[in-house]
Amino acid sequence: MIDYRNTELWKNVTEEQWHDWKWQLKNRIQDTKTLSKIIHMREEDLILLEECLKRFRMAVTPYYACLITPSEPGCPVKAQCIPSAQEMQISSFEMEDPLGEVKYAKTKAIVHKYPDRVLFLLTGKCAMYCRHCTRRRFAGSEDFVISEEDICSSLDYIKSHTEVRDVLLSGGDPFTLSDRFLESIIRRIREIPHVEIIRIGTRTPVVIPMRITEELVGMLRKYHPVWINTHFNHPNEITDEAAAACARIVDAGIPLGNQTVLLKGVNDSAETIKELCLKLVKIRVRPYYLYQCDIAQGINHFRTPVEKGLEIMAKLRGYISGFAVPTFVIDAPGGGGKIPVNVQYIEEWNGSEIKLKNYKGEIYSYPNAGE
Ligand SMILES: *Cc1c(COP(=O)(O)O)cnc(C)c1O
Ligand code: SF4
Repeated sequence: MIDYRNTELWKNVTEEQWHDWKWQLKNRIQDTKTLSKIIHMREEDLILLEECLKRFRMAVTPYYACLITPSEPGCPVKAQCIPSAQEMQISSFEMEDPLGEVKYAKTKAIVHKYPDRVLFLLTGKCAMYCRHCTRRRFAGSEDFVISEEDICSSLDYIKSHTEVRDVLLSGGDPFTLSDRFLESIIRRIREIPHVEIIRIGTRTPVVIPMRITEELVGMLRKYHPVWINTHFNHPNEITDEAAAACARIVDAGIPLGNQTVLLKGVNDSAETIKELCLKLVKIRVRPYYLYQCDIAQGINHFRTPVEKGLEIMAKLRGYISGFAVPTFVIDAPGGGGKIPVNVQYIEEWNGSEIKLKNYKGEIYSYPNAGE
C-alpha cells in the first residue's frame, strides 16, 4: 500500500478520503504551485511548464503522483504525467487529429471507421492527462461531456446501422462519469438488438484504481457481454491497488485487456515490456496491443523507431506465454486504422515449400497443401 502520509501535502488526509475516487479527482494536481510541493522543480523549469500548460492541460491524481520516484530524473511514471518543455516543440508533420477521427465522425460522438464496430466518445475528461495522449485535441481540451441530444443522435446512428455489433465507449475516460449517467447510456445501447458486445476503454485502473468500485462493476455486469481495455505502460504502475481494481473487474466476469504505447524513455526496452506483460497476466490482464506512438502534436520526443518495436516483439514471441504477447500495431495517420507490424518468420516461399524461422532463429520447412 502507498504511504501517502509521507507527503506533506496529504499528511492530514484520512484513509477514507484517499480511497474515495471523488476526493482523488477533486484533488488532482493541476498547477505548478501544487506540483512543486510534491516534486522539487527548478525555477526555470516551472516557467517552461507554465508555458506548456497554456497549450496542454495537466492533471495528476494524488494516487498516481505517489508512484513518481522524485530522485529518478527519467522516472517512467513522471514522464507520463508531468509536462516537459519538449511538448512545445511541435513539428510540421505532427497532426491535431493523427488518426483521422474527425473525418470518420458520424455524429458529434460516433467515429465509424471499421465495418462492424464504432467508437463512442462520451467525454473529454480523464482522471489524468497523459503526456503522450493521441487524442489530446479532445481529451483535456475542454471539459466536454456528451449532451442528451448527442446521446440520442448517436444511439439513432447505431440503431440504423445494423452492421454495428461492437460499441466501444471511450473519450476521454468514460469512468470519469458517474455510475448513473454511464448506466443511462449503456442501458440504451444494450436495448439495441444487433449490438453484441459493449467495450469500454479506460485508464482508471492505472491512474485512479479506487474508481473501480463494487457498485460500478455490479452495474456493468448487468449488461454483459462487457469487455474492458485499460492502459498500463510500465511495471511500476502495477501496484497492489491497481491489481485489486483489475481483480474487481475480472471477478465481475469482464474480460480485461491492456493497450500499451511504446514510449521512448518510459518503456522502450524488451526487458521492461516483457516484465510488464508478465505482470499483467499475473493479475489476469491480457496484453492486447502494443502501439507505435502516434504523431499527435508535441509528443515527438516519445517516439521510437519502428525497428525498436519489432526488436521487442522478437524477444517476446516464443519466450513467454503466447497470451502474454500483444500485437504490435501502427494506427495509420489519416485514418487507415490499426495495422499490425509483424516480425518476419517466413524466410522463403519456394513453390510448395515454406521455409520458416522459429523464435530462436532456427530454420524449419513446411510442405504446403495444394488448393
Ligand atoms: C481502435 C479502434 C477500434 C477498435 O479496434 P479493435 O482492433 O477492434 O480493437 C474501433 N474504432 C476505432 C475508430 C478505433 O480507433
Ligand atoms: S487516459 Fe487515454 S484519453 Fe485520457 S489522456 Fe490518457 S491516453 Fe488520453
